[in-house]
Amino acid sequence: MTERMVIVGGGQAGGWAAKTLREQGFTGEICVVADEPWDFYERPPLSKGALLEAAPALPRLFSPETVAALGITWYRPQRAEAIIAGEKTLILSSGQRLAYDKLLLATGGRARLPGSDWQRHPAVYTLRTWEDARRLKEQLACSQRLAVVGGGWIGLEIAASARKQGLEVTVFESQSLLCQRSVNPTVSRALLEIHQQNGVTVHCQAGALSLDDDQGKPVIISGQQRAVFDAVVVGIGVELNLELARQAGLEIDCGIVVDSFGRTSNGDIFAAGDVARHPTLGIAVQSWSFAQNQSVVAARAMLGDLSRGYDDAPWLWSDQYHHNIQILGIPDPDGTTLVRKTDGSALYFTLTPQGRLSQLVAFNDPRTVKLARRWMATGRDLSGVPLTDPEFSLMTLR
Ligand code: FAD
Ligand code: NAP
Repeated sequence: MTERMVIVGGGQAGGWAAKTLREQGFTGEICVVADEPWDFYERPPLSKGALLEAAPALPRLFSPETVAALGITWYRPQRAEAIIAGEKTLILSSGQRLAYDKLLLATGGRARLPGSDWQRHPAVYTLRTWEDARRLKEQLACSQRLAVVGGGWIGLEIAASARKQGLEVTVFESQSLLCQRSVNPTVSRALLEIHQQNGVTVHCQAGALSLDDDQGKPVIISGQQRAVFDAVVVGIGVELNLELARQAGLEIDCGIVVDSFGRTSNGDIFAAGDVARHPTLGIAVQSWSFAQNQSVVAARAMLGDLSRGYDDAPWLWSDQYHHNIQILGIPDPDGTTLVRKTDGSALYFTLTPQGRLSQLVAFNDPRTVKLARRWMATGRDLSGVPLTDPEFSLMTLR
């Protein structure tokens, strides 16, 4: 009997898993259940090029020919509503039952909102899907004043894109620092400076915000202040799509708990991408590189190939104004941050008390990120190295 692999989620992790199954020689059936109507696409351009280009195209993960060659049986647009784990069967929104031999959950997340009243206001936006990006782009084209709620990666990228289009932008962040969870305070302050230099008004520690309406325009109330905007975009993090995993009784803790092969607590169910917890760090790592590389490993494991587990250091990038920002690793709260600035680039090294690199944030310097990956992988001791001296060539540490 032909084997059937079922993937839930038509995003980046789902796409790479399907492609990997075929590349590894799987000749059985690949079914993809996807609630968006599009072929696999990637989300990073949604807050950047898709808002800025005159006629942006769907940022496809693979060409239409490549997708066609995968021979996928699509269930699209449809939702997987439930898993009957004992019968290895999925129930779809159409009521159809879909049996699987192995199942991959690649369901990602959805944008959070501060409250249901925000969802009802027609000029309040979130940005997760291609459809969201198209709607937001249209709104930006006829807006002058934009409020961005949330000073994380999504908020800051949208702020930068909107400023490039000449909008007046105000960011409201509940924490005292921008991107506080993913970088150390020195980097947060550098991000603040960049946005202020580019004319963004940033309110950190904004407190609980409320939403009001003034003749169809959204009003943000922060403490005693009321401000009217043409539009509001909310980027306050994601709610992971964990319902299926929960209902199937899988172990969950900051995401679906997986081992380095993407295996969950049920031997026939795998998980990949945003919805899966990083196997060794035990945290949620929501990034393009994790979704791609961890799903490749999970797909191989679905075929029984356990030759290479996933244990990459987190890496993500962000493009804001003319800055390419790359973040490798996670900040050590007990670490020391060393700053190195040269013309046009800045490097923020966070070293553990033992002198190991826990995080590098590089502004406009991808070359050093490559080098730092090796330092991190080999646990190189960097104590005593004059990292902050711009005259000292880091390439001598190759
Ligand atoms: P997703 O891309 O969310 O795909 C999951 C898919 O599954 C969705 O289509 C969802 O609708 C579908 N689904 C969910 N439940 C069901 C169900 N029950 N049935 C059927 N379908 C279902 N990362 C970076 O490293 N750098 C960046 O610059 C960057 N920029 C970003 C910009 C934006 C605007 C966003 C939103 C994210 C960005 N990211 C970036 C993060 C990166 O895009 C995500 O980590 C990545 O998309 C995760 O992929 P995924 O496949 O796990 O989830
Ligand atoms: P995020 O990085 O978690 O940032 C959201 C920020 O908003 C946090 O600082 C959060 O503070 C704050 N916040 C929460 N509630 C708030 C409120 N009511 N009012 C004001 N601020 C509030 O999430 P995101 O920026 O929305 O991004 C969503 C997802 O897309 C993430 O998975 C992210 O990794 C991904 N993404 C990545 C990139 C990139 O890598 N370049 C770009 C865009 C998006 P708390 O921490 O206290 O909640």
